[in-house]
Amino acid sequence: MAVRRPLIALLSAALLFGPASAAVAAPADPEALDAAIASPRGQSDTELPFGIGPGQRGRSADAPGRQPSEPVAAAKLAGKPRNDVIADVPVELTDASIAYNLIPYHGIPSALRDLQRSNRISVEVIGQSVLGRDLHLVVATAPMSDAQWKTWQQLSDLRFSDPHAAQAKLAAGGYDNWRTPLFVNNNIHGNEWEGTDASLQVLQELAFSTDPTVVDMLNKHVLAFVVTNNPDGRVAATRANANGFDMNRDYITASQPEVRAVRAQLVRYSPLTMLDIHGYVNCTLIEPTTGPHGDNYEYDLYIKHALRNALSMEQKVLATGETRASCANPDGSRRNDIPFRDRTQGWDDWPPIFTPMYSMYHGAIGHTIEVPLNPRGNLTVAERHERTRINTAVAVATIKGNFDYATQNRAELLTNQLEWFRRGVDGESTRPIDDPLAISLARGDNIKTHVQGFARAYVIPAGTDQRSATAAARLVQFMVDNDLKVQRAWRPFKLGGTHYEAGTYVVDMHQAKRGLASALLEVGRDVTNDFNAMYDISAWSHGHLWGATVQRVSENVALDAQALRPVTEARATGAVAPGKQANYGLIVDSVAGIQAVNRLLNDGVELARTADGTFVVPGDLSVVRPIAEAYGVEFIRLTPPQVRGATPVSKTRLGVAANGGEIFALQQMGFAPISVTHTAFNNGTLSFADFDAFFVSTTAFNPLSLNATQLAAFDQWLADGGTVVGRGASGKQFNDRAGLLDVTIAAGRSDANGIVKVENNPASPITATALPTAFVDAPQYFTRVGDGVRVDQRLAAEGFFLAGHWGGQAAAAGQAVVVSGVAKGANVTLFGTEPLFRAHPEGLYPQVAAALWQ
Ligand SMILES: [Zn+2]
Repeated sequence: MAVRRPLIALLSAALLFGPASAAVAAPADPEALDAAIASPRGQSDTELPFGIGPGQRGRSADAPGRQPSEPVAAAKLAGKPRNDVIADVPVELTDASIAYNLIPYHGIPSALRDLQRSNRISVEVIGQSVLGRDLHLVVATAPMSDAQWKTWQQLSDLRFSDPHAAQAKLAAGGYDNWRTPLFVNNNIHGNEWEGTDASLQVLQELAFSTDPTVVDMLNKHVLAFVVTNNPDGRVAATRANANGFDMNRDYITASQPEVRAVRAQLVRYSPLTMLDIHGYVNCTLIEPTTGPHGDNYEYDLYIKHALRNALSMEQKVLATGETRASCANPDGSRRNDIPFRDRTQGWDDWPPIFTPMYSMYHGAIGHTIEVPLNPRGNLTVAERHERTRINTAVAVATIKGNFDYATQNRAELLTNQLEWFRRGVDGESTRPIDDPLAISLARGDNIKTHVQGFARAYVIPAGTDQRSATAAARLVQFMVDNDLKVQRAWRPFKLGGTHYEAGTYVVDMHQAKRGLASALLEVGRDVTNDFNAMYDISAWSHGHLWGATVQRVSENVALDAQALRPVTEARATGAVAPGKQANYGLIVDSVAGIQAVNRLLNDGVELARTADGTFVVPGDLSVVRPIAEAYGVEFIRLTPPQVRGATPVSKTRLGVAANGGEIFALQQMGFAPISVTHTAFNNGTLSFADFDAFFVSTTAFNPLSLNATQLAAFDQWLADGGTVVGRGASGKQFNDRAGLLDVTIAAGRSDANGIVKVENNPASPITATALPTAFVDAPQYFTRVGDGVRVDQRLAAEGFFLAGHWGGQAAAAGQAVVVSGVAKGANVTLFGTEPLFRAHPEGLYPQVAAALWQ
């Protein structure tokens, strides 16, 4: 990155300043480069406008010393939007957008440079996609001086740092001229294109229109647009990003770089409204949603404005006159599809995996928008283009309807957001919906919310063992990245009569964004009986699935402020046993431990493993010290009897027939998975001799489809002690087709998912140190295990279903969910749980690693 950015700036300078500058094509010294870019302008630095005029293009309009190459996190600290140099990118004639008559990714840079001619516009590169494409944020507002911008930023931050003070300032007129931040995210699903085109149209108007209503809007708001949240998907016409992730399911996990980049902007602006523009749902769908509504939102505050804003957007869509964008009411009038008003279930805001729901935790009135007409599939060119034209017009209408609503209700929206944050700081319970309009328009049970109080605090111990140290640091850093306040004890302290060690983390829940802290740390709730149908998953929990110990403090006790200091960064430091050691031990019960082992193996270090699963590492400080430092792991002392009998371990050559999320999770752990299919073995592309283990959770690798030669090779591979890990129904099917473990499986409802309480077999190397919770999705459980099959993990006999949605769950109580054994000479493990689901349940990864390392 440090290398890449100056090169882009260089190329762009050449583009901007003509052929004469093109001679500077060699890598340049960054300072000379900056001077080269800066010199032609002759603009004074004393008063930088908020936006950027034609003469200033190319300069980072920030504090002295800031370069456009600085990472996204730094932008938050520096605050002021800046104008990055937007370089051209190679033309890709295969960009899918072209066939839809929409802007291809390579068309975006010149469109942004055109917008940069306006002093109302700033454009920033906020990150890169998986394939390295830039993500752009465009901000439109009337020009501000440095001083104005500084004041704006201070007032912006005061909303959540001290909502009481902000409320007092608001009452005294201190926010009268403050511009409210509004946010539009586009194209997170790569093959739902039109939000990007609509936003660029709206931005043209915001940049250049002299219409007094537009000028007024620019004086009242800071309007932020993510041009495309998924450029790789836009080009390739895929819903997912290049890692195969549906990023509109990733906001609470943030495993993907595109998600983290936009998350940083949501944190930075904490906008009052947020639109996430999708397609394609007939009638045009505009949220708010059906129930069940997420427990941790201030839903009464949300719905009041979400519903009215939706009605405002609906009016704008109807005013386009595009009848294909709406549906008829029985009386002949037209409407859009507002799930809260028009549906009974199945389009809920329960999980904060979705971008608008995640943004609600930063105080936004969040809406998913679904433009109406699917342009994909077998259509004439004219019809395809007509659909994308209508969709773009609809997206423009929703953006404008949202801006109109925010302009007319600016003070109320701000008051509402400050009340949202104040309740957090004051530790108040959530409240039922009391808005008469919402009560009158709600369909079915959509009016219901689950009123709840919050914990007083959470305590996250760190340092008692390696897992708690590395997992706690990971969790705390994640919370800090999500704009949550975490403190750490610098000395021992007492809380509610319990003694805690120095180094313990404390999350004081009296904070503005406590709803997000609760969403991350609590286990959630069983909503099976609330609604029959759910849109997506119904449970997630970093507190219960990431491996850190998280203790809830419910009683209203005083926190020992003297013992606690704010955390700005958390990382485990690692340790090495003192004294000269012939060997060190490494216990792998965390993601960091898995990564450390894979790194050592990749570096060619010879490892062995004891019967209890401890890795034996040579006693070479030059090897173990950097690994302890990099991964935060602890190398312990081993006695000679422990080392005796340890078996050598080599790098696992891993083949996978798995989904994108699982492949990504395996890569996170430091494996190098190679996708395998029976076809690739049959045609000689792949050879069984090149693999040590297979992870199978899809039907892409079917042993019954191997030809005779390859089937014989596979059987030999099994007999030579190969390792097979199967997950879910397809993993079990692979097991059966290959004639491996003798087990009978039963399936839970295919839409069932959630967090379960499990009992681990203490004699199992796979689960002996596993967490007491697991995650299931389309759960599978083993109703019978044959001779020689070990049960590694069972669902608890009573009360196993902690959170989520699983109709018919009772039948699974006490059943086995992880089993293993030796079959045909191979080590075989079957998971009925989902230990790698969308790279979320990191605390379950060690079970998969242990199974693969058998
Ligand atoms: Zn979508």
